[in-house]
Parts: sequence; C-alpha cells; structure tokens
Amino acid sequence: MKDTFKHKGLRQQLVEVVTNKGIKDQNVLDAIGKIPRHLFMDSGFLDHAYVDKAFPIAADQTISQPYTVAYQTELLQVKEGDKVLEIGTGSGYQTAVLCEMGAKVYSIERQLELFKITSKFLPKLGYRPKKLIFGDGYKGLKELAPFDGIIVTAGAPFVPKPLMSQLAIGGRLVIPIGDDVQVMTLFIRNGPKDFERHEFGKFRFVPLLEDKN
Ligand code: SAH
Repeated sequence: MKDTFKHKGLRQQLVEVVTNKGIKDQNVLDAIGKIPRHLFMDSGFLDHAYVDKAFPIAADQTISQPYTVAYQTELLQVKEGDKVLEIGTGSGYQTAVLCEMGAKVYSIERQLELFKITSKFLPKLGYRPKKLIFGDGYKGLKELAPFDGIIVTAGAPFVPKPLMSQLAIGGRLVIPIGDDVQVMTLFIRNGPKDFERHEFGKFRFVPLLEDKN
C-alpha cells in the first residue's frame, strides 16, 4: 500500500479538475487532496485513479466519480463532529472523505463482499467510521437516528421514508433520485413535518436495490 510523490502530484491535479468544475468547499477539496484514491481500486488500475471518472470495483459496483463525491459532500455541508449516515459504502472512498472532514460516520452496504472488503480496508488507512453495517439502506438506521446528514450514493427510484424521518431538525439529506438518470436532490428538515426540497444537476449512479445480498 504505497502512496508516493507521484500519487500526491496526480491528486493535486485532480483537486484542480474538481475545483475548475465548481467545487468550493475547502474541506472537501483538502480531503480529496489527501485520500489515496488509487488504494481503493485494484492495483492494476493506477492510471484510472486520479482521472475524474467512476470506475468498476467488486460485486459489479463502482467507486463514484470524484466530482460526484465532492458535489454530494459539498451539498451535505459537513461540520466537524456531525453525525452522518451514508447509504452505499462501496469502496469506502466517500466514507473516507466524510471521516477526513471530522464526521462521525455510519455507513450501510447491501453487498456482503464489499462490506467485508471495505470493513478491513478502511482501518488500514487509518479511517475509523463509527460503524459499518451490512444491511438495507432503504431502512436507514433507526436505532442511531437522528442524523445531521444522510448521503445516498446509489440512484434511488424514490425517497425512502425512513431516511426522511431519521434526519435531525436542521439536517440535510442528499439523494440522487431517478431510474436511468438521477436528479441530485437536497432535503433540509426545518421542522418535524417541514422539509425544504432543492433540485440540482443530473447524475448517473448504480441503482439503490432493496434487501441485502
Ligand atoms: N460510496 C461508494 C459508492 C459505491 S456505488 C464509493 O465511494 O465507492 C453504490 C453502492 O451502493 C454499491 O456498493 C451498492 O452495493 C450499494 N447499495 C445499493 N443499494 C443499497 C442499499 N439498499 N443499501 C445499502 N447499500 C446499497
């Protein structure tokens, strides 16, 4: 598990690319500049690690495009100490970004293979989410709610109700909604039954599937 000057140089170029695409949150940019994304992919694919593209990982899933990770994280407005729930742990890259920003991270993955790989891998890099869960993200994590932020990293055909109800007052839910193409959507909870809804650009994610596998 090497992280060399070459990797660091490539990462700085990636930070420039996402900055030029409009990402402004300095904490998000710092996290991308720091996290060795090449280690989240199979070793043969080093050339792909620092281009702004999604890439296949185990279990037919993908590591999200860095710009997409940055975009979602910026919408979440993560502050140090925030309690954040991620749906779709996948490679753990987004999880690492949230940890790097000082969030207390809970993350759910429905693919057992990925859950196992990522649970072992993140601590090796020094990232310690509060809890990684093998389960179905449609249900959220009721026993640990409410969350200051909830981030869904797979394309959701609709907004799962439990995620809305597990959001703290003032909390933010960032979720790509749609079937083939998704609209990035932000919900801000202003009161028990009062949600503000904002829609952003179009993205393409692997689907949010029901039940664990
Ligand atoms: N955050 C990841 C993105 C992985 S792609 C990263 O940075 O690499 C989306 C992930 O969501 C996949 O790993 C997929 O298995 C998972 N997923 C899909 N439906 C899910 C569900 N209902 N609950 C939890 N995870 C789910």
